[in-house]
Amino acid sequence: MVQQFRPNFPHRLKADGSYESICTLCHLTVATAGTEAALLHQELNHTCNPIRLYQLNEYPLWPIAQSRKGPRSFSAGVGMP
Ligand SMILES: [Zn+2]
Repeated sequence: MVQQFRPNFPHRLKADGSYESICTLCHLTVATAGTEAALLHQELNHTCNPIRLYQLNEYPLWPIAQSRKGPRSFSAGVGMP
């Protein structure tokens, strides 16, 4: 049995009054609409691109994500006498 994870879609109110829906897994904007209710249809139909997910895992965009990977993170005491 294969288990699939469904992403969450936080909504962001833009300066022009419209709403943006962002996928928490692939970090892409899934939809933009005038109301939050109008975002639902595209959120339900969203499928993350597996190549993008692989690239995000291998080459994180944000330093905080990099620090969670372990070996690449800085550790206390490195460079101390
Ligand atoms: Zn996605």
